[in-house]
Amino acid sequence: MVMPIRKIILTCWLLFISCAVVWAAPLRRCAGCDKSLPEGASVWLLKPATALAEYYIETGVIHPDQTRLQKEADPTGQVPVGTYLYLCEECNKTKISCSLCGLPVREGFVETGDGRKICRREAADVVLDLETARQIFETGTRQARNVAGIDFGLKQPGITVQLVDMIDMAEKADGGHTLGFSKRSPTIHYVCLLSGQLKRAVITTSAHEYMHLWINENIGSRQIEKNTVEGICELLAYKVAQAEQDVFQQRQILTNTYTHGRIHDLIEVERQHGFYYILDWVKNGATRTFDETPAAVKKPMPVSSAPRPLPAASASSVAKPDTLKLKGMFTKRGSRLAILNDGVTVAKGEIATLRLNGLRVTLKCLDVLADSVVLQLVGATNSITLEME
Ligand SMILES: [Zn+2]
Ligand SMILES: [Zn+2]
Repeated sequence: MVMPIRKIILTCWLLFISCAVVWAAPLRRCAGCDKSLPEGASVWLLKPATALAEYYIETGVIHPDQTRLQKEADPTGQVPVGTYLYLCEECNKTKISCSLCGLPVREGFVETGDGRKICRREAADVVLDLETARQIFETGTRQARNVAGIDFGLKQPGITVQLVDMIDMAEKADGGHTLGFSKRSPTIHYVCLLSGQLKRAVITTSAHEYMHLWINENIGSRQIEKNTVEGICELLAYKVAQAEQDVFQQRQILTNTYTHGRIHDLIEVERQHGFYYILDWVKNGATRTFDETPAAVKKPMPVSSAPRPLPAASASSVAKPDTLKLKGMFTKRGSRLAILNDGVTVAKGEIATLRLNGLRVTLKCLDVLADSVVLQLVGATNSITLEME
């Protein structure tokens, strides 16, 4: 992912290297080193080639006096319409570009083991050592469990985190995510993170990889479409980016191609049904994607209208997925309490945790009425009303 970006930048530079132009602009500064460019000084233009550089322009990290908006193509045809960054002569000469933002690298940069340079803008904010990688992974996965509203811990909790300078694509089963990957041996979970990434990107990558580990543990022998798996992982990463109020990461997740657009479907599924529904579908669903109808339902209805025998009593012994139930109600010291699965009791305003299909589900009791209880999954926006059976 890094090499092509560098290639693009070098190409742009070569394109503009001969384009020394003189403008009578009031104030201009080099986007590479912030040096002011006095009137009459030669300036070079660089086309921003990364989403991060564009985000810097949009948010003012790269100041307007460091950019030039070319509204019409110049007569020589060398500067097409677009927004460009001003560069001073020294920055233009530096043929090394930052592996993250694509800007020239001169001073105050850091370097990864495989020689990628990261400019002063991001130098303090990237993950270059294993200890930091482990801490950020911990932060990202904790946040992931928080935003899911459900404690969906791993059965096998130990995770070996590794930091690498290159992701070995041959080891990646999914072929999608280029900033990390995860795998499970019979005894350990293993997560590999790419060095030299912004901490905030590592946080969302950690959430993504954590979701892969959970899916690996719970998918059993069932088949789920690859892009849907990636979509579920990116959904959790997206929710973490939202919780972190990280607009850039949210945008990266919505626009990257890892999920081939599935992320948008998954956001909608979660909006309608909540995150627990998605986890339950992974464990107990029968379709390969959310928009498929299970094969059993697709079969045409039998033409014969002859009455069919009632299902044998043994059919009820087939394990059915647990559902949330209101098992009873009582009053204690003037307040009404509802009894849910496993004898868990809740009063209005209380939060309770119970297990459903092997998952811990955290609920808030919104109200206890005469013969029903109104509940809400923590993190969900819709409520569930259960009545006495
Ligand atoms: Zn400069
Ligand atoms: Zn940079």
